[in-house]
Amino acid sequence: MKLTLTGHSYKYAVEQIMTVLFPGEKPDYGQWDRREENCAAVELSEGLVWVTATTRLNRNGTRAIGVSRALRSALETDELARDRVCQRILKLSFFKAAVTLTGEIPPWGALTGIRPARMLTRMMDQGMGEKEALAALCAEYFVSPDRAKLCLSTARASRKAQAALREDEFSLYVGIPFCPTRCAYCSFVSASVEKTFAMIGPYLDALCREIALMGSAAAELGLKVKSLYIGGGTPTTLSPAQLQTLLRALAQHFDLSRLCEYTVEAGRPDTVTAEKLAVLAENGVTRVSINPQTMEEAVLEAIGRRHSATDVYQAMELAKASGIPHINMDLIAGLPTDTPEGFSRTLDKCLALAPDNLTVHTLALKKGSRILLDGLPVPGAAEVGQMLDYSAAHLSQAGYTPYYLYRQKYMSGNFENVGWSKPGAEGLYNIYIMEELHSILSVGAGGSTKLVDPRTGHIVRHFNCKYAKEYLEKPEKWTQNRAQFFAFERALLRDYGLLPEENTEGSDS
Ligand code: SF4
Repeated sequence: MKLTLTGHSYKYAVEQIMTVLFPGEKPDYGQWDRREENCAAVELSEGLVWVTATTRLNRNGTRAIGVSRALRSALETDELARDRVCQRILKLSFFKAAVTLTGEIPPWGALTGIRPARMLTRMMDQGMGEKEALAALCAEYFVSPDRAKLCLSTARASRKAQAALREDEFSLYVGIPFCPTRCAYCSFVSASVEKTFAMIGPYLDALCREIALMGSAAAELGLKVKSLYIGGGTPTTLSPAQLQTLLRALAQHFDLSRLCEYTVEAGRPDTVTAEKLAVLAENGVTRVSINPQTMEEAVLEAIGRRHSATDVYQAMELAKASGIPHINMDLIAGLPTDTPEGFSRTLDKCLALAPDNLTVHTLALKKGSRILLDGLPVPGAAEVGQMLDYSAAHLSQAGYTPYYLYRQKYMSGNFENVGWSKPGAEGLYNIYIMEELHSILSVGAGGSTKLVDPRTGHIVRHFNCKYAKEYLEKPEKWTQNRAQFFAFERALLRDYGLLPEENTEGSDS
């Protein structure tokens, strides 16, 4: 779609809303010509009292105009507020023009961000009651009532988790970037599986060295780990002895005295054994995630998981017998060759297994995934919508509540991923990371560290090497990451008045 921006340069905001409303469209910038088809002129103008965004949209022989405005005084607090208000009204003007043309309102209305519940939390932080904030979310952003309710439930869980956090706590992520095979929807594992498997031994040695290095920074600052998450990839591709080595290194180098949740992804059911689960249980793991994605054999085949639904039943039986208190199962709505009926069967089967957490993802079409490269057929947005409606109704009926929520780019139908749990079984790490409640330090390949100042919302991110090979070749990256983590957390602890005198001269290396 040809875009003409006048009076502003908020390209990203305009492109975001264009992609939500017209999936598949690519931006192409140029001069406005009203005779052209498939184009939008998006203008921002400032008057004495109002700042006004106007979008003129031409598409398939029809034309529409959308207008949105805000008080000019709202722009005058600081740069950040100015950006936020301008982007909001620009998106709303585009949204209004597009809805006039198409007559279709997407489930999340004019919200484009990955954390839609944020808007609701912000409104409540500003003093609005729950009912008032819900009504405003629906009226101002055109969010559907059922999506707004999802926001409310996750906002409640987030506030509860936030209230239980202390200033000297952080969470830790450990990346294990190995999987038995590559799933069709994954863009992550680039090297051949056989090649990467040979790297597991050297990778684990290096990871233990990085754990010692990062642990020394946390120890020097007196920081305690609140939640620990071992993800990937598939951490249970490690042997029992390798898992033991990893879990011992973590306990040796980090202060786990306040650990309230210890998760290990056992994503591929065919990698789960009683021996591995026994190692996890002995080392204090409280949560495992067993991820069928689907229980339909044909769909499993289509996505290249190379395991069967029977493997899922066996893995669940082993997990329950291991005594690990919480079990999550991940499902994906919208997988290649799946149907609403197939997805409903999958959900029913998973509910019958009674995990206390169930996460329902919407398929995201990722660059480099086999789905895109091989052109695998995927269900349309309406079918994915049916799958999600079925899951929401049946999970609610079975006593699960939504506790975290996020959206990704290129999701089928622009829907969402939702974590559901039984009361008291919420996966806290998921809330911390999605709501950015405190710092998450990431070690190993594939993850990223997010340093968070909870008072201001200021965030610094640094990315780890994506793949095992690169990780082994660049140990100097760990030293850089350690220095950034140390400096950020030290400044924060000093501000809180929590850093003991003797630590103020601590090393940055
Ligand atoms: S299990 Fe996860 S990381 Fe591994 S190939 Fe499948 S989607 Fe990718």
